[in-house]
Order: sequence, then C-alpha cells, then structure tokens
Amino acid sequence: MLARMATTTGTRFLAALRAAEPDLRLLTEATDTDAYRYDETAYLEPGHPLGVVFPTSTAQVAAIVRLCAEHRVPLVPRGAGSGLSGGATAIDGALTVVMTQLDRILEIDVANLTATVQPGVINADLGRAAAEHGLFYAPDPASFEFCTIGGNLAENSGGLRCVKYGVTRDAVLGLEVVLADGAVIRSGGKNAKDVLGYDLTHLFIGSEGTLGIITEAILRLRPMPPPMLTLLAFFPSVAAAGEAVAAMTSAGLVPATLELMDRFTIEAVDAAMRIGLDTSAGAMLMVESDLGGAAAEAELKVAADACEAAGSTSVLRAADTTEADWLRQARRKAHWSLEQAGVARMDDVGVPRSRVPQMLAAIEKVATAHSMRIGVFGHAGDGNLHPTYVMDRDDLAAGARIEAARADIYAAALAMGGTVSGEHGTGIAKRSYLVRQRGADSVRVMRSLKDALDPLGILNPGKVLEV
Ligand SMILES: Cc1cc2nc3c(=O)[nH]c(=O)nc-3n(C[C@H](O)[C@H](O)[C@H](O)COP(=O)(O)OP(=O)(O)OC[C@H]3O[C@@H](n4cnc5c(N)ncnc54)[C@H](O)[C@@H]3O)c2cc1C
Repeated sequence: MLARMATTTGTRFLAALRAAEPDLRLLTEATDTDAYRYDETAYLEPGHPLGVVFPTSTAQVAAIVRLCAEHRVPLVPRGAGSGLSGGATAIDGALTVVMTQLDRILEIDVANLTATVQPGVINADLGRAAAEHGLFYAPDPASFEFCTIGGNLAENSGGLRCVKYGVTRDAVLGLEVVLADGAVIRSGGKNAKDVLGYDLTHLFIGSEGTLGIITEAILRLRPMPPPMLTLLAFFPSVAAAGEAVAAMTSAGLVPATLELMDRFTIEAVDAAMRIGLDTSAGAMLMVESDLGGAAAEAELKVAADACEAAGSTSVLRAADTTEADWLRQARRKAHWSLEQAGVARMDDVGVPRSRVPQMLAAIEKVATAHSMRIGVFGHAGDGNLHPTYVMDRDDLAAGARIEAARADIYAAALAMGGTVSGEHGTGIAKRSYLVRQRGADSVRVMRSLKDALDPLGILNPGKVLEV
C-alpha cells in the first residue's frame, strides 16, 4: 500500500510535470494506471507506477525526461505492452511513458527504399503502408498486428521472415533518441553505407529502454517480393522434423519462412482454429518461398526432398494465397491456442541451426523428466524455438516447476553454444542468466555503457541489468 502512495518527491514531480506540460495526458489513479502495469509476462509481479503519460512529440518526451532527471524519478518506456520478458512492466514510483500516441508514418521514400516512422506505429500498419508503394518491411513478429515499431526496436525483435531477411536490427538505418538528460540525438540516416564514428544506432537497438527513448526511426524497405508459395510437411516425430530443418540448412536453402510446431501445438491450434491439420503427426514444418515462379518451385522442391529424406509422412502445398494466409495465421496463433489448454508460458531459446534436432530432443527430455506438458513451436530455420510450458490452472507449484524446467532447457541450449533469449529480450525474466551466458567481463562493459549513458540510473532501472 505504501508503494502506491505518492511520495513527497513524487507529488512535487507530478505538480512540476502538470505545470510544464499542461496538455500532456497524465493518469495517476490506480484504476487508470493498472492497465499499464503488466506486459505479456503475467507471472511477474510489476510495481505501481507514480503515473502514466502519453507524449505526442519528441519535444514532449525530452521535457518529460529532463523533469524526471531533475526530480530523480525513474521512467519506463512502453509501446503496446506485448513484451515477453517484462521490459515494459511498471516500477514502483516510476513514470510509465507510453509511446503509442507517436504513431505517424512520416515518410515512405520510394527512391531511397526507406520509411521514417514514429515509435508508436504498429508493425503491420507499416507493412500495409509500404505495400501501397510496392515495398516491403521485413521484420514480422507473430504479434505484428498489435506490437509497435518502438517495442520492436527496443527488443530487436524477430519473427517468421527472419530466416531470410534478418531481425529488426537488420532493417534499421537511423534513429532519433532522447537521452537520459533530455538531449535529443540522431544516429545514422538514409545512407545505405555510413561508418563514421561508433555505431550508436545499433547500440540502442535491443537496449529495452535502458539507454534512451526512441522517438523516430529510419527503416529499410525492400521491393515487394512475389507472393509466397507455402509447403506443409508432417512428421512422425519432432526429431524427424529437426533433421529436415538441419538438412535444408546444410543444403544452403534460405526460405522466406521455416516454422515448426510439435504434436501438442498442432492439436491445440487445430482445436482452436479447425483448419484440418494432421493431428496424428508428431510435428509439422511450414516452409515458404517468396522467390516467385520457377525459382520458388525449385526452392520448395529442395525443401520437400529434405522432408521426405527425413521421413515425413506427408508433404502438401497450400492451394492458394487464402489457404496460405490461414496456415500462417494458424502458426501465429500457436501461443494463444496453447493458452486454451492451461496456463501457458512461452519461452525463447536459440541454438546454432545445425543443433535444432538436438535442442528439440533436449526439450522433450526435460518435459519427460519434469512430467510437464511443453508445447514447442518456433522459427526453426533460425534455430529459435519457443518451448511453452502449459500448466494446469489449479497447479499451485506451477511457478517452481517451470523454474526448474527452464533452468534445464537453458543449460541444454548453452551447452550447444546457444542463447537463453533468441528474440524476446532480457527484461526481468532473463537478467539472472546474463553473466552465465555473456560472462562477467562482458556484463561489466554493459554496466559501463549504462552508467555512461544514464548516470542517474533513471531509464527503466532493473531491466536487462539488475540494480
Ligand atoms: C502472441 C505474441 C507473439 C509474439 N511473437 C513474437 C515474435 O514472433 N518475435 C518476437 O521477437 N517477439 C514476439 N513477441 C513479443 C513482443 O510482441 C515483441 O517483443 C514486441 O517487439 C514488443 O513490442 P511492444 O510495442 O509491445 O513493446 P513493449 O512490450 O511495450 O516494450 C518492450 C520493450 O521495449 C521498450 N520500449 C518500448 N518502446 C520504446 C521506445 N520508443 N524507446 C525505447 N524503449 C522502448 C520497453 O521499455 C520494453 O523494454 C510476441 C508476443 C506475443 C504476445
């Protein structure tokens, strides 16, 4: 309760904020601010914010940050709150700064293949706007219909098309960032090549709101590729599907998407969406080519051969673009579908692509050892898998059991040279693994960067690095 009461510092700060920015939308009542406490990590207990604000310009963000620095009030940048590592969760006594009102696509520059956008733009809206010009924005997290570009940049998010086009980082040319003292800097620009000085753009990408607040971005667009051809392959086991993935990778195949679902996920998705997937299969791969014409046919032929050699029970093609859209939707609904079967917590590990079969086997072993239901789906072509713990709703020990299982899964991933976070960030959920994966010296460098850019420690404290 004490944490919910505004402190003297907080009261003074709010009065100063109201006086300095009378037009700023500011929420302070718990009934209003509660909706902004959580992200998609329901298992983490967030703090109670001092207030929640919705700036509408870079100048306003800068003014807010300056006041926060002056009053030593921490702040939490926030996009749509769809994060899966706790980055946007509220902190006691901090100001949550929601960036969704900065939602304009400022320019689509066809001549330079760039889009200049504010951070509150929804990922899918940018995709649609680019498509009107015959262009294509590649990064597409499964949450693309509701997550913001600011969140994507701050998490360096991945998605279904990363296997071919790379993650968010690979699509960014420049940023405008408000620093911890309220100064506004611009890094990068529209130049396709630009190497002057340190690369600050890529320092802010993936920094989860701990080094600066992104207020604008120049993003790389591409010419729109031809419509995708979609192949589905069903396998008797995840091991066989894993072998097919490894075979495609070593054959040099770089499809537009290469996604996997295990039996549990196939059943959950089919129960939820009724699209006639083969629920007797042990695993399914979805492989897509956007090469167009004969090149796409040839690419999918190599994929089909790899699937058959690995023991697939059937290999099918989507009849048309509508059916392909349905299948893609089905994959994007994997987490939601597993949630219908219990309390589902999605995890996120990555391994070098050739180790996908071993990682899938390791996850199965952990599920058996812990007597747990773990659905597996993910971006298999990237080596990025989402083991999802599905617990009975009345399992009081669920939290502890998940902790034990995920420790084993992470140990297996790290032993294979993998990562405990492929695309969902560090936030609060993964920060205790930072030293173990990166090493104490690397974390020391991270801390020096944090101290240099945010000496007062007001930017999203406790996220990524423990305070
Ligand atoms: C069903 C589902 C599917 C998902 N699929 C994927 C997927 O395929 N790939 C993937 O990578 N992720 C996925 N995610 C996770 C999530 O959608 C992404 O991390 C997304 O980028 C978060 O965007 P957001 O706008 O919701 O950000 P938020 O959750 O609001 O914030 C995320 C982080 O960004 C910081 N932040 C937000 N805006 C700014 C800004 N302007 N400046 C500085 N920092 C900022 C926040 O402080 C926080 O640390 C999925 C989530 C769900 C619920």
